[in-house]
Amino acid sequence: MANASQRDGRRRFIRLAVSGFVAAPFALATGTARAVDAVPESDPTAAALGYKVDATKAAGRTDKSATCATCNFFSGKSGAPDGPCSVFAGRLVSAKGWCSAYAKKG
Ligand code: SF4
Repeated sequence: MANASQRDGRRRFIRLAVSGFVAAPFALATGTARAVDAVPESDPTAAALGYKVDATKAAGRTDKSATCATCNFFSGKSGAPDGPCSVFAGRLVSAKGWCSAYAKKG
């Protein structure tokens, strides 16, 4: 059973996907992005979600233990410095990062 945080994260992701705000699939289709590249904080979706490579610098982060490494959308290997995030269409995010779509792994 999903908790409120996971439901919020999924809803936010679905809203972004439906609105076309998740630009990576378009970029991949047009060859303007590598298959797996790191998400910069300046990326429009990252900026909209308040993504920070260093979670301690993220405004709005209230759970001090919350980082990408413990997020349900993160599929990086344990201990890896970065890994794919499904909110960013599999692009790499920092394991020590954070964004407002965070949903704690269940
Ligand atoms: Fe946000 Fe990180 Fe979770 Fe991706 S893995 S949704 S960037 S907190």
